[in-house]
Amino acid sequence: MKSELSRNGTNHYENVACPFCGILCDDLDIGPSGDGLKVLKNGCSKSVAGFERPLSEPKPQVDGKDVSLDEAINAAARLIKESRLPIFGGLGTDVDGVRAAIALAEKGGGVVDHALSEAQYRNFRVLQNSGWVLTTLTEARNRADLFIVAGSEIHKLHPRFFERVVCNEASMFSDNPAKRTVVFLGEGLDQSAVSGKRIGEVVTIPAKADRIAEILDAMRAMNKGGKISGDTIAGLPRGVIEDLLARCKAASYGVIIWAPPSLSFANADLTVQAISEFVKEINLTSRFAGLSLGGNDGATSAGAVCSWQSGYPLRISFASGKPDYDPERYSATKLLAAKEADLLLWLSSFSNEIAPPETDATLIFLGAPGIKSPRTPKVYIPIGTPGVDHAGTMVRVDNVVSLPLRRLRESKLPSAANVLEKIEAAL
Ligand code: SF4
Repeated sequence: MKSELSRNGTNHYENVACPFCGILCDDLDIGPSGDGLKVLKNGCSKSVAGFERPLSEPKPQVDGKDVSLDEAINAAARLIKESRLPIFGGLGTDVDGVRAAIALAEKGGGVVDHALSEAQYRNFRVLQNSGWVLTTLTEARNRADLFIVAGSEIHKLHPRFFERVVCNEASMFSDNPAKRTVVFLGEGLDQSAVSGKRIGEVVTIPAKADRIAEILDAMRAMNKGGKISGDTIAGLPRGVIEDLLARCKAASYGVIIWAPPSLSFANADLTVQAISEFVKEINLTSRFAGLSLGGNDGATSAGAVCSWQSGYPLRISFASGKPDYDPERYSATKLLAAKEADLLLWLSSFSNEIAPPETDATLIFLGAPGIKSPRTPKVYIPIGTPGVDHAGTMVRVDNVVSLPLRRLRESKLPSAANVLEKIEAAL
């Protein structure tokens, strides 16, 4: 494999970073196909859907009628100026796009929130309240001998995660790395990608997702020598949980993986907290870490940029002229449902997996062609996809690296940042 991103004389790009989920694989080969692109190597269902989306360049629209880009920008600026409280949401974009959205929110006096904030707050609350010990994709790939997947559909969210991080045959630190045990702690989780020479045992523990915290808390107690009464723990035979604890204690580098979007039940942040506290405590006697996945549709980039620009993660309001942080009050969904906000500017350049909440607020929709708006927006402005139609940067889900994205095809579609900066200038 060549060590750096390259393009040969036939428009064949190698070592391309993929923006279509949070793990940002950086080893794809992409080639031309008619007007569009074809994934030639190391793709997955999500990356094929994203890179191979047909190139189209629709016109901007106001009230469903084609207009010039300048007219659409001026209409959007006018609506934001007239709005009582605009929301800048979705934020399915790259670092530059989020930066521009925050600058626009600051000037327009609005609220900034990402489509996946509800899931991200299952993590943020724990990080803010009690902290955690997390590893990175690279550390896990090279060091772990035990993976526990906690109630999360990792394969659906990140189709190449197991291939790249768990089933990799080589390790940076050994020519003959030890086999790995993979424990699926949850009901009906897709195990189909866990195979190959590196995999030793695959263990299934069919725990209900909302009882995983109970299991982790019981293991914390047992690990400290506490007595747990009863034959079952969280509805599972006690021996199964004792066996899991024994595997954790024996591991030379254990990793518990979860993805916040999968933990969609009430108070799921308490599950993340139970995982984090177990990891901290088992670390006193063996090496262990958490690994949070998710971060699709630019969610990790949005959280990172918002933190470094404003001092707070997502859900901030600039209505008072300075950043005001309140993760409950400034949820875009709640503000729209309560009709406190009267305008939603929605930004989505990667997938149809995020969609604006149902609302009768005025809608300004900035979307890549092929990404559907649920209703005809007041203003529609087509934008390019970072890493396909224009260059950019995104933050990987483990928050330790930002990856450069390349422009791979000739496209007249403007970037989200470009459109947002023009709207800001027209305000
Ligand atoms: S797993 Fe994610 S980052 Fe990797 S190729 Fe698939 S969509 Fe892209």
